Amino acid sequence: AELALRQAQKMEAVGQLTGGVAHDFNNLLQALSINLHVLESRCQDERLALPIRMALQAVERGSTLTQHLLAFSRRQPLRPELVDVAALVAGVAALMARTLGGVVRVEHRADPGLWPVMIDPNQLEMALINLAINARDAMPDGGVLCLEAGNHAGNAPRQPGVPSGDGLCITVRDTGTGMTPEVLSRATEPFFTTKEVGRGTGLGLAMVQSLANRSGGGLVIDSQLGHGTTVRLFLPRANPDAVAAPPPGASTGSEAD
Ligand code: ADP
Repeated sequence: AELALRQAQKMEAVGQLTGGVAHDFNNLLQALSINLHVLESRCQDERLALPIRMALQAVERGSTLTQHLLAFSRRQPLRPELVDVAALVAGVAALMARTLGGVVRVEHRADPGLWPVMIDPNQLEMALINLAINARDAMPDGGVLCLEAGNHAGNAPRQPGVPSGDGLCITVRDTGTGMTPEVLSRATEPFFTTKEVGRGTGLGLAMVQSLANRSGGGLVIDSQLGHGTTVRLFLPRANPDAVAAPPPGASTGSEAD
């Protein structure tokens, strides 16, 4: 309970920080990025190519961080809608295949006849990208990243963390380094990271966990050191009636967490 409280307090702190700073900071980074790109395209001096490139990379990392912060912020409420999870998973797999290039093989699979889910598609996409980036980081020498989506019947045998009731299970699996039990037990804690300063924010899994909670789903992580990690995101099956006629104001479910 103490850990849960500490975690909630950290989330609260992130929320406050975000409200005040992240939005403005994001605009600032945008201006930096545009001007750096102008510099890059007009600059004839070879000696400046590397520093400009490094500045652009720093801006890139900064904007990833502010996006994570904004995802926590109350300014970015959940906008749930009926989502084609199979298409979304295929899209993320294609994106990762393009960006990961050679060393990591990307696979994806979706069961036919996936149940409908109500979720904010942008936040779900960001969650899957976060999981895929973690997978990539765990496979510096290559491996296989696999994204899967399937139905999960509510009466199936349950593991801790798996919500009851019918739902969708989205699996992101890698053949990477895996985690020690200590790292695994703290992995979803906000700001917990084992990555070097500037690379990891420690907010990726916390964000995915938060999305799972707010959507009435769950997150289960299994990991074996030296073998890989399997992250399963459960989302409740949408009630078809609710899908047909969402009640007024249903799109601003930003309160609960
Ligand atoms: P970040 O990626 O910024 O460090 P996360 O919350 O996404 O933040 O992850 C927290 C930590 O959990 C990571 O630093 C890493 O140690 C561990 N982790 C997360 N995903 C994986 C994975 N797929 N394989 C191995 N370790 C992982």
